[in-house]
Amino acid sequence: MSLKVIFLGTAGSVPTPKRGLPAILMKRKGEQLLFDCGEGVQRQMIMAGASFHKEMKVFITHMHGDHVLGLPGLMQTMALHGREKPLEVYGPPEIKRFVECIRETVQFGLTFPIEIHEICEAGVVCETPEYSVQAFWANHVAPSLAYALVEKPRPGRFYPEKAKALGVPEGPLWGQLQRGKPVKLPDGRTVKPEDVLGPPRRGRKIVYTGDTRPFEGLAEFAADADLLIHDATLGDELAERAYEDGHSTPSQAAETAKKAGVKRLVLTHISARYEDTAPFLKQARKIFKNTIVAEDLLSVEVPLLDK
Ligand SMILES: [Zn+2]
Ligand SMILES: [Zn+2]
Repeated sequence: MSLKVIFLGTAGSVPTPKRGLPAILMKRKGEQLLFDCGEGVQRQMIMAGASFHKEMKVFITHMHGDHVLGLPGLMQTMALHGREKPLEVYGPPEIKRFVECIRETVQFGLTFPIEIHEICEAGVVCETPEYSVQAFWANHVAPSLAYALVEKPRPGRFYPEKAKALGVPEGPLWGQLQRGKPVKLPDGRTVKPEDVLGPPRRGRKIVYTGDTRPFEGLAEFAADADLLIHDATLGDELAERAYEDGHSTPSQAAETAKKAGVKRLVLTHISARYEDTAPFLKQARKIFKNTIVAEDLLSVEVPLLDK
């Protein structure tokens, strides 16, 4: 099952001709999970082939304008497209008041309900049968959340030869075993899933830091992630300035990636002062090789691994 991450906006603070404001779309099984909602997000969604009608959850990291001001435009475009499904919005305290204020003052003509989940505490903020989204307080100049999308383990690999050897006839009983349910055979014997399946396989994990300085605990939160999407607003040469503004540098992001043992690192929230990000790659890859710098509409597939 495909899990695709599309970087809709990769700038920090202000847009540039090449970069829109922060917004990262994850497409998973017909559902869209949007992390941050920078201005112009709906146009980027159109360019990325995303839908205004699908099931969708929006997770806002913090209330700085570059991360949240795309919500009104997105709501308006969805209404004009006649969206009917609810839109779920998760975010830090004030997200509720923000959405309520714009709803009271802008003539949206909304065609769909909006469900707002204000997050006051770190932990699991959204849980479905197949995945959870966890939030963790980052270290920025405003209260800001990092998020992890964590898929639940899947049943292990199915071994048809084991099922045959145990006399389970091919057909619906195989399906039941594959889904992790025991089956009863016509002769009265019960075959358990563990008799014909390998060990459970881990799901995927994607972590998005939002705006943050490096901080204690982040590597643990991001541990073993398949993909770490990290703030890298300023280059290493401006580390002091990055710290003052509550941001990270490529080297700092790479240090966390290394410590967390993630598979891949993507740097984002790039300051408008950089047109060439080659130095960012160089700085990060010295510490963590499997790094790329995000650009608008970059699409990254996160594969399922069999272990
Ligand atoms: Zn920002
Ligand atoms: Zn910020």
